[in-house]
Amino acid sequence: MQHNSRYCPCNSNKLFADCCEPFLSRSDFPQTAEQLMRSRFSAYVKKNYQYILDTYATKSRQNLSVNELQQADKGTQWLSLEVVSCANQNSVEFKAYSQVDNTFYLLHEVSHFQIESEKWVYVDGKIIKDTGPFTLSRNDQCLCGSGKKYKKCCLS
Ligand SMILES: [Zn+2]
Ligand SMILES: [Zn+2]
Repeated sequence: MQHNSRYCPCNSNKLFADCCEPFLSRSDFPQTAEQLMRSRFSAYVKKNYQYILDTYATKSRQNLSVNELQQADKGTQWLSLEVVSCANQNSVEFKAYSQVDNTFYLLHEVSHFQIESEKWVYVDGKIIKDTGPFTLSRNDQCLCGSGKKYKKCCLS
């Protein structure tokens, strides 16, 4: 679904190699909650569930496994991310669009993060709005962040 795979799936307009890739490959670590949030979104796009599991806070990870994360995400394609605001250094408000078959979902959430063993980790999230499924008409703007019409983009 990525139209130019050199660009980061988190819609930062940066190259993947200059954005989330170093975090997913563990050659670097996020310095802010927003960087971690973005890298976790990119991990969902790349289906790197180990990274998602490893970046949960210990207390939030208790009953989770890579397999469980994978099952919960099965069939979902994460399309695009919009960071709305970072009200304080521990929280990030975002909108994430996803697709399951021909229906679309919008998740609007505020995620909370903390530092654990000198690394940023995800604690929990408060859902502001979870909308969907909705359909997209051919002339709507595509949700992948390309700026193109749906019919000229991911529909084709
Ligand atoms: Zn990124
Ligand atoms: Zn598209």
